[in-house]
Amino acid sequence: MTKLYAVYGASGCGRSLMPVARQQLVRAQDASEIVFIDDSLAEITRVNGHRAMNYTTFLDETADEKAVQIAIANSRVREKIANRLEADGIQLWSIMADNVVLMDQIELAAGAALSPFVSITSNIKIGKCFHANLYSYVEHDCVIGDFVTFAPGVKCNGNIHIEDHAYIGAGAMIKQGTPDQPLVIGRGAVVGMGAVVTKSVPTGVTVVGNPARIVESK
Ligand code: UDP
Repeated sequence: MTKLYAVYGASGCGRSLMPVARQQLVRAQDASEIVFIDDSLAEITRVNGHRAMNYTTFLDETADEKAVQIAIANSRVREKIANRLEADGIQLWSIMADNVVLMDQIELAAGAALSPFVSITSNIKIGKCFHANLYSYVEHDCVIGDFVTFAPGVKCNGNIHIEDHAYIGAGAMIKQGTPDQPLVIGRGAVVGMGAVVTKSVPTGVTVVGNPARIVESK
């Protein structure tokens, strides 16, 4: 059976995740090819040693099975592409670096990308297409929705709920909640880099600073 894997996006995020994708296949002792998909490409080219092509060309490639990691930081774009892949019967592919630490009772939905030095501890549920960039961690009893993005070095402590499409900036830290009252980061909220989040963040707002405060739109 032939299998073809792809990293969707050949910009910063995709080129950083391709080595992680290679590690994933080496661990699985799978010698299949991994290509880049990027819709900015008019013809098949090479990027960092891999064939690169647009989505239409990828669809024309012959393989019994195709699986794709959507390596694009913008969560709305990830969702749009995930829906298209689903409609085309193509699997979402989860990848993780060799040195990722996964502890007990983790439910990780399809399409995740866990970069080097990420740790996920115990009793954690994570939705579709989660991106955890370099050195991020998720501590015990967290619930993370679909299409959530962690930039590098995010410290997500215990008993935190992060809703769909939230974006957590580089080096942000989020204070732990309690089992009765988890700290909640609302749907589509943005936490600025380096923010120290000490209380729940409402849906759709941006917070920055220490302690993190809502940025009022002018
Ligand atoms: N892209 C694509 N199809 C889409 C949307 C985006 O192939 O429908 C590609 C786009 O051409 C670009 C990459 O995804 O190469 C996104 O790169 P960007 O630098 O914006 O973000 P990052 O790599 O940081 O996620």
